[in-house]
Amino acid sequence: MDVEDANDYLVEAASVSRLESFMVFGGEPMLYPERVIAILTKAHQLGIPRIDMITNGMWGKDKNSAEKRARRLKTAGLTKVDVSVDAFHAQYIPVEYPRNAASALVKAGVKGVNWNVAVVESIESENEYDKKTKQILKELEPLGIETRFVKILPVGRAVQNLSEFFKHEPLYGPCEGDPILGNSLTNPNCVTIEPNGSVDICWRLAIGNAREKALSQIISEYDWQKNPLIRILVEEGPLGLLKLSETHEFSFQEDHYINRCHLCMEIRRFLAKS
Ligand code: SF4
Repeated sequence: MDVEDANDYLVEAASVSRLESFMVFGGEPMLYPERVIAILTKAHQLGIPRIDMITNGMWGKDKNSAEKRARRLKTAGLTKVDVSVDAFHAQYIPVEYPRNAASALVKAGVKGVNWNVAVVESIESENEYDKKTKQILKELEPLGIETRFVKILPVGRAVQNLSEFFKHEPLYGPCEGDPILGNSLTNPNCVTIEPNGSVDICWRLAIGNAREKALSQIISEYDWQKNPLIRILVEEGPLGLLKLSETHEFSFQEDHYINRCHLCMEIRRFLAKS
């Protein structure tokens, strides 16, 4: 995302709401550290009290440069960071990198540094992934950083690779809101803006595009009852989407879906392609 676009979205959002928090995440935001610093600075100038980032800590490869970066992030206004460490990240990023990044952030005075840990079942489980994650956390224990556990959701590649660990849930019933942020579709309290300008209130569930229309207008004009797809999700849930003529060719096999969100995303992916 361009800094100019991000700054514009921040100003637009702040003009119609009292922003309590702002977060940058990816992919990996620190692949573009200068952009991140510029965007955080803008959020700080707008007086947003909580400024967060999720990072995998790959920028901690070299201790000295990590310390310099952490100081700049702190000056830019960063107040909270979730550093991702678990068996999945460790396949690609040596644990030493997030360890250095987190230490540098603590040293720079960023107060809310946490480990962001994805578990398949729970940290006490015997499956190979959670066991490996437990081992990694043991190595990181001396740093005294708190851990935030997040249970892996059946989305993306997790559905293919971890299907044996997911318990199937009923597909019937209305949408209950984003399971991570708790954002409700009727009265969302946050939006995610993607690099292409899409303004989402759940995974890839857009309520407009900030490149085509002012974000302030998208936010203030939002009414779940006026968006046909969102209205169905609220009133009937994802199964209701199957009555749309555009989904006639969607092949629905009840056993295939782990829960309502899995079904919802599959149908919406189908709709986006058709
Ligand atoms: S994925 Fe669909 S069903 Fe799940 S919370 Fe989002 S909109 Fe609701």
